[in-house]
Amino acid sequence: MAFDQVRVRVAPSPTGDPHVGSAYATLFNYVFAKKYGGKLILRIEDTDQARAKASSEQQIMACLKWLGLQWDEGPDCGGEYGPYRQSERKHIHRQYADKLLENGSAYRCFCTAEHLAQVREQQKKNGLKTAYDRKCRELSSASAEKNMAAGKPFVVRMKMPLQGTTPFMDVIRGKIEIANELLDDQVLIKSDGFPTYHLANVVDDHLMKISHVIRAEEWISSTPKHIQLYQAFEWETPEFIHLPLLRNTDRSKISKRKNPISLDFYRRKGILPKALVNFLALMGWSYSSDREIFTLEEMIEKFEVKAINLGGPIFDLKKLTWMNQQYLQRLSEEEFVNYLRTEVFAKEYLSKIFQVILERIETFDQFVEKAQYFFSPPAIMTIEEVCPKNRDKAQLLTMLSGLLDLLDEQYVWEMVHLQETMDHHRNKIDWKPGEYLVPIRLILTGRKDSPPLSKTMEILGRELSRQRMRDWIQSHQAS
Ligand code: GLU
Repeated sequence: MAFDQVRVRVAPSPTGDPHVGSAYATLFNYVFAKKYGGKLILRIEDTDQARAKASSEQQIMACLKWLGLQWDEGPDCGGEYGPYRQSERKHIHRQYADKLLENGSAYRCFCTAEHLAQVREQQKKNGLKTAYDRKCRELSSASAEKNMAAGKPFVVRMKMPLQGTTPFMDVIRGKIEIANELLDDQVLIKSDGFPTYHLANVVDDHLMKISHVIRAEEWISSTPKHIQLYQAFEWETPEFIHLPLLRNTDRSKISKRKNPISLDFYRRKGILPKALVNFLALMGWSYSSDREIFTLEEMIEKFEVKAINLGGPIFDLKKLTWMNQQYLQRLSEEEFVNYLRTEVFAKEYLSKIFQVILERIETFDQFVEKAQYFFSPPAIMTIEEVCPKNRDKAQLLTMLSGLLDLLDEQYVWEMVHLQETMDHHRNKIDWKPGEYLVPIRLILTGRKDSPPLSKTMEILGRELSRQRMRDWIQSHQAS
């Protein structure tokens, strides 16, 4: 290895919920860094400005800290190679794109969205792979200048080689090679001036002196594009390690349709961080044939990249629950009490419950009973118990799935916004308030007399509210 120091990074995109996949990649990077006395860098890849959310960045950091996977350099703690938020490095990416324009590895493309759509349409019709037709690739510099002077918007594209292959070595998978004719002339700088993932990722990995890129298997198809970029810049490439992808129990790529993917969910469900870390470790590695429970320190001591297991690991909630039980049973009295105080009965959570429960109790011995659904999911009710009189099972399931789809995209989880979403949906499908709200309330709380629904949902939170709805739908879809 030509690098003086092991420097690895995790580069989550803050576009949605803090993903278990991010924790999984962080864990393996963390262990690798610790094992070789290296550094772990947290880089926030927020170049997709339309989708990036500041709250998501905060959540990712909070969740990784909760898991005990602390990074050495990052947007919150700084470091020598910052800034660590990609949107703050836009000017750097542009300078490097200019270098590629100068050395002839990239070109400006002035094609309109209509032209690109037409090309795609034609390719689809002819049963061809869709790709840019390279119309601007040989545009003279005089024409490009003229277009720029006329203020025409443009993107910067990579001039990919048309023949030959791009090979690269993956430390655990060996040689991977792709025919260059399959590589599109990738956009490097978008018309809004922001870099694409490919350019920003390579430039930042290089400038941050990343020695090993350890990321999920789904990025393998991007790696040849990255190799081409390293070559165009005449930079040394890091080592690549692509981790096996986490899968649902039906072996499809892990998805929120089939598995809760948000780290927040596992935290709210009462999974202990050490249990989750141990479980994630087992997704790609084993300690020994007869031992499944091990600590992070033990993993660091015994870990070897070559021992990463490439078989598609199944993210099985039952196994995780079992693992959690093992950890729970090992808690000391103090840890147990602490966990209840800081996680289950966290002060901020109790303050929120206070707002709605106070008027519903006369003495404190009624609290647990009245506020039960804030701490444990209610039993799954039958269709008959939940379905309004004038509707049937199919209508109810359609209504709930429609709402769940909307809630899956709702990241600002506040009463007014939840109320708006539900009002809008209800009006659209033309249900009366009672027939719409009662089933949802019953599914979420198990009772008819709970506080106003949108407030209850706000307090319960995005994760638990959606999961209860999903569980109910799933348990009635099959029957
Ligand atoms: N931003 C990418 C992600 O969201 C990073 C992939 C990589 O590690 O290169 O996972």
